[in-house]
Amino acid sequence: MKIKVGLGYDIHRLIENRPLYLGGILIPFHKGLIGHSDGDCLIHAIVDALLGAMGERDIGQHFSDSDPRNEGRRSTEILDVVSGWLEERGFQVEQIDTVIIAEEPKLNPYVSAMKESLGSRLMISREDIGIKIKTNEGLDAIGRGEAIAAWATVVLNRRGGDKKNDG
Ligand code: MG
Repeated sequence: MKIKVGLGYDIHRLIENRPLYLGGILIPFHKGLIGHSDGDCLIHAIVDALLGAMGERDIGQHFSDSDPRNEGRRSTEILDVVSGWLEERGFQVEQIDTVIIAEEPKLNPYVSAMKESLGSRLMISREDIGIKIKTNEGLDAIGRGEAIAAWATVVLNRRGGDKKNDG
């Protein structure tokens, strides 16, 4: 068994009249996150953490914003693709822990649904998923309600352990 750790971060601007997706869940709000995809910064942070733990480059290298196939793409679809790569390479997700930083809306009522959505995609149980909700105490762009950011860490376990022990 070989343990791998990954770290991810993402931030997106909030704009009026756009759906707000976080953790794959549609959250009722008058603003949403702008991005080439659906702007789900929580999933983007998780994807970057997973890619980092696998020794891969970041999400922008794999799902380029100049590629028309990624235009308006749901982030859950990107997570499913990366989840498939984990499976192919013999990695299993042991745990993820995350922080969402948003001044508005109140996100705590949606944490349970986000855990459900992420857990089913990564095939882990809800007690192995952490989602903490913070504000930025009114400071900077996040504090002014102009953006939402997220951090994520992941722990992977590679079946068969080190490469030299594979096969
Ligand atoms: Mg992003």
